[in-house]
Amino acid sequence: MSQGEQRPPEGGHGPVDCSEALSRLFDFLDAEIDELDGDRIRQHLADCEPCLSEYDVEDHLKKLVRRSCHEAAPAELHLRIRQQLTVLQIQVDERG
Ligand SMILES: [Zn+2]
Repeated sequence: MSQGEQRPPEGGHGPVDCSEALSRLFDFLDAEIDELDGDRIRQHLADCEPCLSEYDVEDHLKKLVRRSCHEAAPAELHLRIRQQLTVLQIQVDERG
């Protein structure tokens, strides 16, 4: 049907490109992808600052945290996300 289908990220070892990184960023932030994929996306974001700022990650985080306040452990989720971001910022900082 669709010819422009993207190849599945699973099983790939190469770096992700901007569109893949951004499209999977939500999953990454939600920690709903496995460690290997998460690592590749984190790697890209660390290399590609425009992705970070363009996607308004922090704004998304606020919404995510607010949404999850409805559920069990917002503090834990918030902490986990902050850890992810901190790691990203440290990596970007070290490279810059
Ligand atoms: Zn990028």
